[in-house]
Amino acid sequence: MTVRAYVALGSNLGDPLATVQAAFSALRTLPDTVLVAASSLYRSAPVGLRNQPDFINAVAALDTRLAAEALLEELFAIEARFGRRRDFHHAPRTLDLDLLLYGGETRATPRLTLPHPRMHERAFVLLPLLDLAPDIAIPGHGPARALAEACREQKLAKLAIMDSVPDHRRVHS
Ligand code: AMP
Repeated sequence: MTVRAYVALGSNLGDPLATVQAAFSALRTLPDTVLVAASSLYRSAPVGLRNQPDFINAVAALDTRLAAEALLEELFAIEARFGRRRDFHHAPRTLDLDLLLYGGETRATPRLTLPHPRMHERAFVLLPLLDLAPDIAIPGHGPARALAEACREQKLAKLAIMDSVPDHRRVHS
């Protein structure tokens, strides 16, 4: 059985644009999985701890035959390859991959919560997700479009392709 899953990509250390682009390439190599679509890239101000670089965020749509837990393990393996450090909560990270949705599945185990527990309140997840699935609903929370409206005060810049080169337009100063 093939399941449509959505994965959030985020990076704010080193060269985040290159990291997110390389992470899309890594997602292409996952076993029993096809990368169906990649969202635009977005630049967002960090949540929680302000004194750190902006993030580059995006969302990937995957069609996978992997079980949700197995897919999460693969995502952890990619994070590890990119040298992710888990120094402290909200710490800057080389690459963060979150499993947002796995079909319409809901679950809450210590290892895996679906939908991802904070996705419904984060513009940097909802806007790239809407690029790929404009009419999607988040189980338990409703249409992503309405959820994105509710967090529109969060600063987010959609990057044009040309923005991929210089780092001149930060979301916060
Ligand atoms: P973070 O450091 O914020 O990326 O959180 C990673 C931790 O959250 C890991 O221990 C995961 O097992 C757990 N987790 C629970 N649900 C999810 C999910 N849907 N996607 C990614 N990590 C999850």
